[in-house]
Amino acid sequence: MDLYRPVLAKALFPAFEAWRRRPTVPLLRFLQETERWPLERLRDLQAGFLRRLIRHAYRHTAHYRALLDERGLRPEDFQTAADVAKLPLLDRATLRASIEARTATAPPGVAIRKTTSGSSGEPVQVRYNAESRHWRDAVRWRGYGWAGYEIGVRALHYWGAMPGEILGWWKQRKIAADRLFKRDLYIDCTPRDERSLTEVVEAIRRFRPHVIVAYAGGAAALARFIYDRKLRAWDDIPVLTGAERLLKPDRETIEATLGPAFDTYGCREVMLIGSECELHDGMHTAMENLIVEIVVREPGGVMRAARPGETGEVVLTDLHNLACPMIRYVNGDLATQRAEQPCPCGRTLPRIGPIEGRVTETLYDGAGNPVGGLVFNILLAAIGNVASNFQVTQRKDRSIVFKIVPSEGERIPEREEQLLRNQAARYLPGAPFVIELVKEIPLSPAGKRRVVVVEK
Ligand SMILES: [Zn+2]
Repeated sequence: MDLYRPVLAKALFPAFEAWRRRPTVPLLRFLQETERWPLERLRDLQAGFLRRLIRHAYRHTAHYRALLDERGLRPEDFQTAADVAKLPLLDRATLRASIEARTATAPPGVAIRKTTSGSSGEPVQVRYNAESRHWRDAVRWRGYGWAGYEIGVRALHYWGAMPGEILGWWKQRKIAADRLFKRDLYIDCTPRDERSLTEVVEAIRRFRPHVIVAYAGGAAALARFIYDRKLRAWDDIPVLTGAERLLKPDRETIEATLGPAFDTYGCREVMLIGSECELHDGMHTAMENLIVEIVVREPGGVMRAARPGETGEVVLTDLHNLACPMIRYVNGDLATQRAEQPCPCGRTLPRIGPIEGRVTETLYDGAGNPVGGLVFNILLAAIGNVASNFQVTQRKDRSIVFKIVPSEGERIPEREEQLLRNQAARYLPGAPFVIELVKEIPLSPAGKRRVVVVEK
């Protein structure tokens, strides 16, 4: 019997959130109702949020005023969520270049700024207001809740870790508070040698998590380790996977060794986009917070919505970000469109998936131990202000070449260079490491920008 859990959920956590002035809990209750609303009613809600967003963006940002004016559009021309397609796509390059012109001159002001790397390796800055953050938090609690991750449970986070020097003092304090209140245990999933994986298994036995939140690749490596050595000594623990694509054989191994896998999809620019319910058949999108489109660009430049079963580009409109609107942002991922069929779980939120374009390569340290390539993806957020692009290549002899395109001039500051070297020494010990400053990074033969390349 876990007596602490109901107390935490009913009293402590809401008080803690209120103290931080975050209305996450009432918003979460709202979302737990709307997820079962008739789809028509959900669409009305979404259209209302879109109208408010466009009105605000037109009145208070130079970027969207110019964009609508050029096309002879007025805010009144946007009546339904589908009308968002009257605006052009916002690609990564424009997202970067337009940051000041998209920042609104009227309240609500920017409360959060962060630099993100995405899967493409090209950093962008994202800004948003406090309300948008509350929606993001509530959407995450709702989506994770479908897997059983509720406020107050013991959660093991088997995730990529940011180096302490980047996190900074205040963030470490915040993590300490979160651990205290919500009972989270964080373990870095990047090292995948025998000793590290043994330690994770011991942590599961000792900590007895109700739920595990993991990088898909990290969870898969852990599951294979448990499977090969027959180490399972627990009942089902649901595993929320994210950050990388969850492959079918990996899902099966996770289910055999840990518990049911609930795949999630998000990106740092908008956080959680979709998550699986207990039926594990596609991800329900958070349509109260986002308009999620899947778009196909035909040869000749014609654009259209993907048909059911077809794969297209993920396009996102961040409905509650009034401080720095992001409308029809192309985040670089590909996803499969699904027919609009009601899910037997009873939730009416439309589903997407599977998601493609998030498979990351595995690197090897000097001794041949595998290391998840996402470790450098995380680091990019830290060097994002000094680099406009980068790529990590591991040669056949295991040496690592870190190519960087400096944002300004021909060098990067010593502090950032040192961070990279520390990261390489920590995660890839014994592998020779060189930094190469270059003017551009060529795309793969398929035209994709790849962050991590392993030569075979
Ligand atoms: Zn469902």
